[in-house]
Amino acid sequence: MNRNFTAFCAATFACALILAFCGAIWTGSPSFSLADTNEKEIKTVYLTFDDGPSDRVTPKILDVLKEENVKATFFIIGNQAETRKYILKREAAEGHTIGVHSYSHRYKEIYASCDSLIKDIDKCNEVIKSVTGKYSKIYRFPGGSFGLSEKFISAVTEHGLRYIDWNASTRDAEIYDAAPEQLLHAAVTTAASTDNIVLLAHDSTTKTATAEALRAIIRHFKAEGYEFSRF
Ligand SMILES: [Zn+2]
Repeated sequence: MNRNFTAFCAATFACALILAFCGAIWTGSPSFSLADTNEKEIKTVYLTFDDGPSDRVTPKILDVLKEENVKATFFIIGNQAETRKYILKREAAEGHTIGVHSYSHRYKEIYASCDSLIKDIDKCNEVIKSVTGKYSKIYRFPGGSFGLSEKFISAVTEHGLRYIDWNASTRDAEIYDAAPEQLLHAAVTTAASTDNIVLLAHDSTTKTATAEALRAIIRHFKAEGYEFSRF
């Protein structure tokens, strides 16, 4: 009995020593801790495409999104969508979000007054509803909300819409005749300071480079540990 008890104590002590030793190694390693695996930091990219749909570019973008299994948000122009409802149908059917950008995209008319702004939004939203069966609740100001009069911003939010700006850009609206590599570079560098990225891109008819750059942009952020989401 005594011998057994002594053996038990020795075994317990040995186990304690081993555990303490392992614990010292465990906590002593700065490159790995339980927090790294259990409290995963979520980094998110919201891909947003303005000024579509277009026959030439939007289907190519949708193909890449499908192949990469990524969902995105399309802020559409109503007067372009009237004759391209098949593209809106595809966007909705493939799990993307459709938001209001404008019906006419003519700044002078849209920003002439709060009334004309809301009329433009509603007209665009009618096109969305005719395809998806419901009005969109999200909006992107043509040109963004940056520097806009507070009255326009209040008019939109009081109308029940959430407006979405961006904090990173492919700069596909600014770089003339861009190469896809330039758009990738712009997306990566403008997004550098944030873990919650809203990336601006365009799917209008001249933006073929955007469609060509998209796969590399997605793969870059996937490799950096980002997840993709839509509004
Ligand atoms: Zn626009």
